Amino acid sequence: MNLAVDIGGTFLRYDIGGIKKVKIKNIDIEKFLKDLIKKYNIKKIAISFAGQVNNGEILSSPNAKKFNPKNLGIPYILENDLNCAALAESNYFKSKFLVALYSGTGLGSGIIEEGKIVRGYKNLAGEIGHIPYKKAPFKCGCGKDNCIELFASGSGIKKWAKFLGCNSDLKTTCEEIKKNYEEALLVAVATSLTLFNPEILVLGGGVIKNNPYLLDLVKENIKNYAPKFAISKIVLSEIEDASLKGAKLLLKEENET
Ligand SMILES: [Zn+2]
Repeated sequence: MNLAVDIGGTFLRYDIGGIKKVKIKNIDIEKFLKDLIKKYNIKKIAISFAGQVNNGEILSSPNAKKFNPKNLGIPYILENDLNCAALAESNYFKSKFLVALYSGTGLGSGIIEEGKIVRGYKNLAGEIGHIPYKKAPFKCGCGKDNCIELFASGSGIKKWAKFLGCNSDLKTTCEEIKKNYEEALLVAVATSLTLFNPEILVLGGGVIKNNPYLLDLVKENIKNYAPKFAISKIVLSEIEDASLKGAKLLLKEENET
């Protein structure tokens, strides 16, 4: 059988008779996957990975643990997690022009144009979390100190909470962190809409999921951030484990071609 796996910043998820998840920090990813491959006689694996990947190689991973998929010893597909999620969202919303903007551990986006993933030269397109925004008093996983991810992601909220001595949950954190988060999210949405002109922009990821009020906030305020012509339909993600589902779609696509 074939296996789809999603390696995020916090959890590794896979689907064998239902979706299972394990905490990344408790495992050796390579050994864990090798054990699964052996136990279930896996012939091929599709991996959604929270980091920069290209041609089957992990280039960097600001939020996730690195490993070498070549060592798994079976054919594999390796794809960025937001590209996988965008593919799943495109399939779910039946839109061929879609941006998935996720604020979870990090802030990232996946872009679908004419039904295909927009990759760029080295499969790095859509890394919106690392565009320059404002200086922060600490560093991003990528090494810079001015990434928008430092304001509009779960890890960013945590860093600010530690720095200012506030709660690290967006719901209960101090007003300054909350306001900064909302502002940065609006900038990220406006940037995505303006650059990629999607039919639908899907908001997802852990922070959005736990704070669905953000959809109304974005819809009400986006006119002050994006030009009128760029504003399109903005919705909340309705699917669970989108990256994992996208990885499954990649396995299916390869079988069909
Ligand atoms: Zn960064």
